[in-house]
Amino acid sequence: MKQITTIYINGQFVRPHGTERFDLFNPTTNQTIGQVVLGDEEDTRAAIAAAKSAFETFATTTSEQRMEYLQRLHDAVTTRLDDLIAASIEEYGAPVQRARASSEMAADSFLHYKTVLQDFDFIRTAGHSKVSMEPLGVVGIITPWNANAGFICNKLATAIAAGCTAVIKPSEMSATQTQILAEALHEAGLPAGVYNIVNGRGDVVGAELTRHPDIAKISFTGSTAVGKAIARGAADTLKRITLELGGKSPNIILDDADLAKAIPMAVSACFMNSGQACIAGTRLLVPQDRLEEVKALVKTTIEKVSVGDPKDPTTTIGPLVSPKQYDRVQQYIKAGIEEGAELLIGGEGHPAGLEAGNFVRPTAFAGVKGDMKIAREEIFGPVLSIMTYTTEEQAIAMANDTVYGLQAYVSSASTERANRVASRLVAGRVLINTLSHDPMAPFGGFRQSGIGREYGTFGLEAYLEPKTIIE
Ligand code: NAD
Repeated sequence: MKQITTIYINGQFVRPHGTERFDLFNPTTNQTIGQVVLGDEEDTRAAIAAAKSAFETFATTTSEQRMEYLQRLHDAVTTRLDDLIAASIEEYGAPVQRARASSEMAADSFLHYKTVLQDFDFIRTAGHSKVSMEPLGVVGIITPWNANAGFICNKLATAIAAGCTAVIKPSEMSATQTQILAEALHEAGLPAGVYNIVNGRGDVVGAELTRHPDIAKISFTGSTAVGKAIARGAADTLKRITLELGGKSPNIILDDADLAKAIPMAVSACFMNSGQACIAGTRLLVPQDRLEEVKALVKTTIEKVSVGDPKDPTTTIGPLVSPKQYDRVQQYIKAGIEEGAELLIGGEGHPAGLEAGNFVRPTAFAGVKGDMKIAREEIFGPVLSIMTYTTEEQAIAMANDTVYGLQAYVSSASTERANRVASRLVAGRVLINTLSHDPMAPFGGFRQSGIGREYGTFGLEAYLEPKTIIE
């Protein structure tokens, strides 16, 4: 049994003042694997004080110095990749291929920000004035459990690139992964206090970060409900906020699309990260007259999806992170059936032989109507909702009929046509005939999918404040 009894403040692993213990478990078996001692408000304030003190010097570092730090952070995380992958399989249930890709992406985020710094002008001219892009101060970083290392590393890389210091509050459910990452980051040997990590509950450590006057900005990834609470809490001290929240992403299959390619890709878009992805393409919008072909292809594609032991390299869907998440997804599957959608494949309960863990049956519904819960709410599990349209205009209207606006997908034989549709979608990112990612391009949501953008220069500018000097 692992016992995680320290947090990381001012360059040292220290015992927290907080005493609450939180159980860690393996979602494949639901067996307890350890415990973490959670920090409290006092620990949070100590971490903020360390970051505030470190900021005085760190804010004056040059781009070259920070590029050197980013390289060291990348190298340090890379040396612990195997441990990170193993922890993310054990504690999160990530299928091994997914665990590997997301751990590598986490390490690479430091290099991406090193690249951004190479051509970034911190001193600019506007009118006849000099404009200096200045680091904001201490950033509070609050992350969810569904890609622990990736969110921490990307947000920390942005803070370092900007010359900000940070207090990180990872998801309490990811403490084993966080511990490995903290040990790795420590080896990079950055000045004490530049980043601090406090395990703890959202309503304790997260809330203290949100209200503390010495925190200049909160960068948060998580649910829309908590994002709204943070926005409200941050208003008292007028903190800057970057909020990366939920989604209900549409995937428009245009009538000229090659379904043999587009449908397997659509299933992958929905089931990525075992369905626990904010960008999952969960609403599949297909032409009414191609529905039968689509249904047949969705069914055969899902029949081949392998659910099971995340350590097995052939597994594409592992367990959901917790029994709570399992129950939540079951409620949505039940709601889909009760509201009259056609259950194409999957359904309630565990797949046979996988009753011990939080495994759900990969599920697809056809005949989904725009007012059904499974068409409107974020499920965060492998559940696909197929809806039909008759005209391109209607497809666009259906795609935009949501409070969210994080990502959208379009498949078409004509890139010109797909681009025309993409230009009318209310989404922070549109993927055309691809599932690829671009770590240098802005990422974030329209509407209730969030505020602000991460990645690349857009992400960096969200950690900077312009100061105008007029002589
Ligand atoms: P969550 O919102 O419950 O928790 C996220 C983090 O916020 C955790 O660290 C939690 O402890 C903390 N928190 C909880 N209450 C808080 C409070 N009152 N004040 C401050 N912090 C608080 O989300 P989750 O269940 O961990 O993650 C799943 C959600 O995250 C999904 O809704 C998903 O869409 C979203 N998500 C969004 C993105 C994106 O980039 N847009 C990426 C991944 C996940």
